[in-house]
Amino acid sequence: MPKKYSIHAHKTDPRFPPIGKYATVEFREDCAGSCRQCVKKRCVFHIFRDNFTHWSTMSEPEYLYTCKSCYRCVEECTKGIFSLAINPEYRTLGDDYWKAGIINSTWAQAHTGSIPVSGAGYRGPFAAEGFDSIWTDMSEIVRPTRDGIHGREYINTMVELSKRPMRLRFNPDGTLASEEAPVLEIPLPVVLQQPAFGVLSKTVLLAMAAAASSVGTLLFIKAEEYTPFFSPYAAHLVPCVTKDTYARYADLIKGSRMVEIAYGPGLDEALSGLKAINPDLFIAVGLPLDSAAAGRAGELARTCVDTLHLTGSDYGREVGTDNPRHLKDMIRDVHLALVGNRIRHRINLVFSGGIALAEHVAKSLICGADAVGIDLPLLIALECRLCKRCTQGKRCPVKLEAVELDWGKNRIVNLLAAWHNQLLEVMGACGIREARRMRGELGRSMWFDDLERDSFGPVFGKRKVTGIG
Ligand code: SF4
Ligand code: SF4
Repeated sequence: MPKKYSIHAHKTDPRFPPIGKYATVEFREDCAGSCRQCVKKRCVFHIFRDNFTHWSTMSEPEYLYTCKSCYRCVEECTKGIFSLAINPEYRTLGDDYWKAGIINSTWAQAHTGSIPVSGAGYRGPFAAEGFDSIWTDMSEIVRPTRDGIHGREYINTMVELSKRPMRLRFNPDGTLASEEAPVLEIPLPVVLQQPAFGVLSKTVLLAMAAAASSVGTLLFIKAEEYTPFFSPYAAHLVPCVTKDTYARYADLIKGSRMVEIAYGPGLDEALSGLKAINPDLFIAVGLPLDSAAAGRAGELARTCVDTLHLTGSDYGREVGTDNPRHLKDMIRDVHLALVGNRIRHRINLVFSGGIALAEHVAKSLICGADAVGIDLPLLIALECRLCKRCTQGKRCPVKLEAVELDWGKNRIVNLLAAWHNQLLEVMGACGIREARRMRGELGRSMWFDDLERDSFGPVFGKRKVTGIG
């Protein structure tokens, strides 16, 4: 049996006190002060101990960054002096899409490399928009595929970003006559992408490159940022160029496995130019995820391009319109257009923009993606609060400019370890052992719109307002 692919996490403490959801409220004047087993010592998640170890002076209120809200401490205080309240700063964290819970949970995953535990259970709405209107079908959860996660069987999360041969030819003796085509594989369906904003110092970008190299995936990085410092990670870097700039980066292109070129007029000539510089080069074309994306994907699938990298908004939406569709619908649109034209197998699809949680990876694959690109979660792993002060030239509250390379790399590797383990959990529960077979596998999902239409439609008729209120 081949060695299992796994990402090894190393606990990497935050540099700044993270913003926790809960703060303590204590009436200490009533504290008996004699409990041998103060409730703070009995928290099974060691929230108070960790707080004290890292930064607390035990002053009140204490901010409990990874508290699971199980309320054991509140229930078991013998004098009833102890309570929890929502931290006001937590309420200001993030926005409607990059919610405080997502940011907080990403910090914890980058800290520990562990799958987040939600403790007192999920208390959000039954369904919401976008990815939150899809459920993965966990009906295989008791089947032996569970062994793939913890035991005997292998769940393969590897995907390819290179073109596949259309047909194989064989010699009369049964041996392969076709020339073996080079293959570009990544061990998990996630590539990293240079974020559009943030304190992107040389060390921050190097940390992203080192993390990509460590887990075996790729970092898409602007060619102008790719200095000689990045050479140790060259095999895992995809310089992004345009038809006007690629010739300037000929040396870089010669030393790269894949290059991304931006979509635009004159692309055919640029594709020939790239192949002339490096005939073995894998080529990705970067294009916006707009209403023309499906049509362009159809054109490009018939060229030498290996992969399309389609980028939506940071909020997981279509770009270039006032009424943007959600990423899940855009992925379906592009994937099904290629399936309809019987050319889906000719090209790989990577979708970026708004991939915020591990479950978005699995759901994107189910919708038809080969892989996804992540950018803002990389910043959040480095403690970014998405406050966007840096876009206004203001000081970064968590001093991203002072991040050290190893610390940054470990935090991103930890996040990827946690996401990879969550993908394994979903695939195991869905009975899928190959990430490549998850592509477009709608049968392993349930969609709110379908369930509502089929279950309540015959009783209540058609929903007048589209979307989930
Ligand atoms: S609510 Fe539960 S998890 Fe949170 S601090 Fe108290 S005992 Fe620990
Ligand atoms: S914490 Fe704020 S200022 Fe710092 S990188 Fe993130 S968005 Fe920019």
